[in-house]
Amino acid sequence: MASDSTGVSADDALRRLLSGDKRFVAGKSEEPHGAALVERRHALAKDQKPFAVIVSCSDSRVPPELVFDVSLGDLFVVRTAGEVVDAVALGSIEYAVEHLGTRLIVVMGHQRCGAVSAAVSGATETGDIPDVLKAISPAIEETKGQSGDRIDNAVRANARDIAKRLQNAGPIIAPLVKTGEVKIVAAYYSLDTGQVELLK
Ligand SMILES: [Zn+2]
Repeated sequence: MASDSTGVSADDALRRLLSGDKRFVAGKSEEPHGAALVERRHALAKDQKPFAVIVSCSDSRVPPELVFDVSLGDLFVVRTAGEVVDAVALGSIEYAVEHLGTRLIVVMGHQRCGAVSAAVSGATETGDIPDVLKAISPAIEETKGQSGDRIDNAVRANARDIAKRLQNAGPIIAPLVKTGEVKIVAAYYSLDTGQVELLK
């Protein structure tokens, strides 16, 4: 059932994303719109080969296709508040790797993330919101007492933690990470500048 890779390596995919972000930052986005976008929609109607998986926050200001200046069919996107990865989100990522052949996974946190801010402040929430905050809490613990901005430190730690966890995840992703075929990177998006920074 597994499909071949998309033909775009993890390194090439990352280069493509970062150069797209550069255009976005500069206000020089090139992706098709109007008739060209309709044409692309038709071309993709029966198949998709997204070259990257983006795991990012649901925040309305961080839409990956715009940030990376790409179009229909380019990104397989999983978005939750605080880019929290639960079992269903993980299964979605695994689907892209196993069946669509995507070789790069980017876990992207962002500046002034509301979910991380709520977790830092220890806010009391109802419904299922506490589940989101609980998932972010290890990053809060980890960065307690660090110098600098508490929320920003936690945002970065949260993205790094999720990326690290994905590297060892399950029977699909972990073996491909080991062979170097799949790469997982953590990233930070600046709301102020539009720039995506890779986290070490
Ligand atoms: Zn957020």
